[in-house]
Amino acid sequence: VLPLSALGGDALTGLKGILADIDDTLTTDGRLPSQTLAAIEALTATGLRFIPVTGRPAGWCDHIARMWPVDAVVGENGAFYMAYDRAHGLRTRLFAAAAQKSPSTLRAIGEAILTAVPGAAWSSDQPYRLADIAIDFCEDVPPLPRAAIEDIAARMRAAGLTAKISSIHVNGWFGDYDKLSSTLALLAERYGEGAASAQAHYLFIGDSANDVPMFGYFPMSVGVANVRSQLEFMEQQPKYITVSRSAAGFAELAAHVLRYRTS
Ligand SMILES: [Mg+2]
Repeated sequence: VLPLSALGGDALTGLKGILADIDDTLTTDGRLPSQTLAAIEALTATGLRFIPVTGRPAGWCDHIARMWPVDAVVGENGAFYMAYDRAHGLRTRLFAAAAQKSPSTLRAIGEAILTAVPGAAWSSDQPYRLADIAIDFCEDVPPLPRAAIEDIAARMRAAGLTAKISSIHVNGWFGDYDKLSSTLALLAERYGEGAASAQAHYLFIGDSANDVPMFGYFPMSVGVANVRSQLEFMEQQPKYITVSRSAAGFAELAAHVLRYRTS
């Protein structure tokens, strides 16, 4: 993993957009600081697209797509993307049709996990989800040990779900989509970007295990400094890392990119 300063102007010349995880990447300790929104506005003012790619639910993403200064949002770890513009309103592209047919099955899997893993809880944003279950291990409950987090993910997989661990939740869903597959579909469908072009011209920044498919795919992949505690659990790691943690790390990336776009 290289310092962010090693990401040079030659690599950034063809940059078309930035893809960013939300929790503990754009936020710090669960809050969205004004510096994050200011940094997004400064980046998009130079012509870059900005697309959050998150495990957060559809209910949140409706708000984000409409109100944040972003071009689109990928939510629930790739279950859908949403994009808003005044001409067409809010458009939702769903990749999780199969999962929607089985909410009671998902619910039962989640209940069984809560019985088996003391201290785990439904995430507070579960009612606003379309396609997945999210088990809280850190957001509104005292942090669980690593073994318990892995146990939650293993129980989801044993029940036939895809499972990914974010910085706060373990998410599980039916289907093989993930943050990467749905991001590539978004870039192709909305902006006409083929996979190779997306790979060459988009930068991803994130912090946790559910970002691994993105870290593995994008040569311009950046971890905020708090990713260090997760590196040992990641089969594919970010290429670059910021000095600062969470939202301050994102602000550091924005300033770095802007230096090359304004000079
Ligand atoms: Mg995160």
